This record gives sequence, structure tokens and C-alpha cells, in this order.
Amino acid sequence: MNAILELDAVTVGYVGVPVLDRLSLSIPEGAVVALLGANGAGKTTLMRAVAGLLPTRAGGIRFDGRDLAGVAVEDRTRSGLAQVPEGRSVVAELTVDENLRLGALWRYRGAERDRAVAAMYELFEPLARRRRSLGHQLSGGERQMLALARALVANPRVLLLDEPSLGLAPLVVAQLMGVLRDAADRTGLTVLLAEQNVTSALSIADRGIVLGLGEIVADAPAADLAADPALRHAYLGF
Ligand code: ATP
Repeated sequence: MNAILELDAVTVGYVGVPVLDRLSLSIPEGAVVALLGANGAGKTTLMRAVAGLLPTRAGGIRFDGRDLAGVAVEDRTRSGLAQVPEGRSVVAELTVDENLRLGALWRYRGAERDRAVAAMYELFEPLARRRRSLGHQLSGGERQMLALARALVANPRVLLLDEPSLGLAPLVVAQLMGVLRDAADRTGLTVLLAEQNVTSALSIADRGIVLGLGEIVADAPAADLAADPALRHAYLGF
């Protein structure tokens, strides 16, 4: 399968703190890839570098064959690279429906926008029941779903999703993961899912990449990772 996202010897970090050092990886189109690793391993840093929020110091990032060097965050989004950062960013003062329309605004108009929003209600049924509720009236799980739907409504090709399970009850996490897998299966979306909740992430992922202090310590089919006791013990904490 073609790689849709490629990192080639990427070095990135903060002032005085190099987090990823010459890291290379390749994500095949249509795959759900779990990005795992302990607190501080560099998962968020990697996501931010791909999204364009953090400048790379060396190496290159390619999206669909295009070098992203110098490409601004909003241009990355417009070309189909969507991200949902940690923290369920939704507009608290707007309704679910308005949040979704806002997410689709730059991409679709009129009837096309209506169709894109309706498709999200099909995928995220709990949101359909809450369409007139304001962002701040939603539960944590509903807010995370809305953050996801708001990114997906513009029909991206790749979704960068940071720690969606944070603070959610296990049943809500399971529901969220199910919807995510469903979205990937229905649309061919590629997902890079950074998670501390290893079991949940591996349950829906095709592949898992484990980061340990800025380098890749494992890159294998999700089922193999979940079944490897040494790896689980050393890096995944279960
Ligand atoms: P978590 O699951 O806690 O988010 P992570 O794997 O996403 O962990 P990162 O957030 O990428 O890890 O952090 C990697 C390293 O970079 C850590 O040592 C962290 O302390 C450091 N770091 C993160 N953000 C900054 C920042 N803004 N300035 C300086 N150092 C930072």
C-alpha cells in the first residue's frame, strides 16, 4: 500500500530539549496506526511536527508525496491533513450543529455542506440526538465525539488524533474507538492515534508504533504488539 505520511530522519524538540532525534516512519494509506509510549515519550511532539505547529530542525515530512517544509498549518489542513489536539476543542457557545457547520465551512457550501453534516450524524448517532445542545452542555464523551466529527466533516485524508480517551469512562472510550474504526472503514481515512490507553488503541488499530524516549522501539501489527509480553511489560505498562 502507498505511504500517505512519511517522516524521514526528523529531528524536532523545544529550546534545549531535543525530543525526536532523526526519527523515520511511514504510514500506509487507509491504516489506523496507534502511536504508543509512556508519558513524555514524544507522541504529542510528533503530532505537532506533522501538523506544522512545531518546526522541524532536520529531516523531512511528506504528505501524499508532497514535502511539507514551509507549508503553513492551515494549508496542511486544506490539503487533507486534519488534527484533533488533546483537550476536545469545540466551541462551547455554539450548538453541535453550528460546530459541525463551522468545521465544514471552508470546504463545502449550501446543499453540499448539509450533506456533509448529515453524514456526521449518521456516523456519530449520539450527536444527532444533541444537535441543538451547546458545546458546554455536552458530556466529556460527547465533546470528544464532536471534536472528532468537526475534523471529519471536511472529509480529510489523514486524521491526527491526540489522546482522545483522556478522562473518559471505559464504556465511552470503547464507543469512541468503535466510531473511529467505523469512520476509517467507511471512508478510507488514515488515522494516527496517539494514546496512553494502549489496550483500547490496539483494539482498533491495524498497526502500532511504540515510542520510547524519542525513538521507535517497536513497529508491528497491532495484534502482535498486544500479544508480546516483554514489550507490553517494558513499554506499554500492562
Ligand atoms: P503525554 O502523553 O504526556 O502527552 P507525549 O508522549 O505526548 O506525552 P510529549 O508531550 O511529546 O510526550 O513530550 C516529550 C518531551 O518534551 C517531554 O520530556 C516533555 O517534558 C517535553 N516538552 C513537551 N512540551 C514542551 C514544551 N512546550 N517546552 C519544553 N519541553 C516540552
